[in-house]
Amino acid sequence: MSNISSKQKIIIANWKMKLGFRESLSLARKIRQRFKNFSGNVVICPDFVSLYSCGQEIKKSNLKLGAQDAFWQDSGAYTGEISPQTLKTAGCRYVILGHSERRKYLKEDYNLINLKLKKVLAVSALTPVICIGENQKERSQGLVKSVLTRQLQEGLKGVALKADQKVIIAYEPLWAIGSGKVIKNKDLEEISGIIKQFLKKSRSGRGRDKFSIIYGGSVDSKNIKGISQIEGIDGCLVGGASLKPAEFYKICRGMLT
Ligand code: PEP
Repeated sequence: MSNISSKQKIIIANWKMKLGFRESLSLARKIRQRFKNFSGNVVICPDFVSLYSCGQEIKKSNLKLGAQDAFWQDSGAYTGEISPQTLKTAGCRYVILGHSERRKYLKEDYNLINLKLKKVLAVSALTPVICIGENQKERSQGLVKSVLTRQLQEGLKGVALKADQKVIIAYEPLWAIGSGKVIKNKDLEEISGIIKQFLKKSRSGRGRDKFSIIYGGSVDSKNIKGISQIEGIDGCLVGGASLKPAEFYKICRGMLT
């Protein structure tokens, strides 16, 4: 059974490919120590090689493990890929899908992300985190609503959720990722409205409650309070700042306490 409700906020740390194996393990240890008395919903997403060992490191803590990607088949001749079932066996509870860096460098599109999402949902107790977001050009051309709606339509096509399942939608505008530019609160409120409107049109009342919306893009300990006060934003996906234990702790406290 998935453990988030739309009211329980969450912070997800995306370590990307920024750390080696030993560094990942050392960071997992430091975060575990720092979060010793912290009960909020916090997930760390190391790279694939470091996943299992980091999972062992945080096993007896409140921290949870997530992966940065998954493949859309259970097994077979798919060189280099990892199945959702294997991720679950390694201790993962969450899987990020369709991160903008994968869309950019690996040409992932939402048809493919949709296949991944369905396969992740087919494995019980794994919660997918599907990323959406516009680029700078689309924003300046006033295309934000149509871009996000198309991404949601394609990404969530044919996705039916069982009673105990959740999907997290991570809104990550490309221009805000790793740039130090954070979205204005009023713009984020508008985005949350666009996503909710999409869900309202496409899902029944109870169906809508299974989705939570989180924000990602240059989140830090200074801007977290403002973000945490936005109605309809249930958490954050944090990249760069999640690699600094003290800073990451402040972010989690800012959002989750
Ligand atoms: C991310 O890559 O998901 C992200 C939000 O990165 P950053 O916090 O560094 O902008």
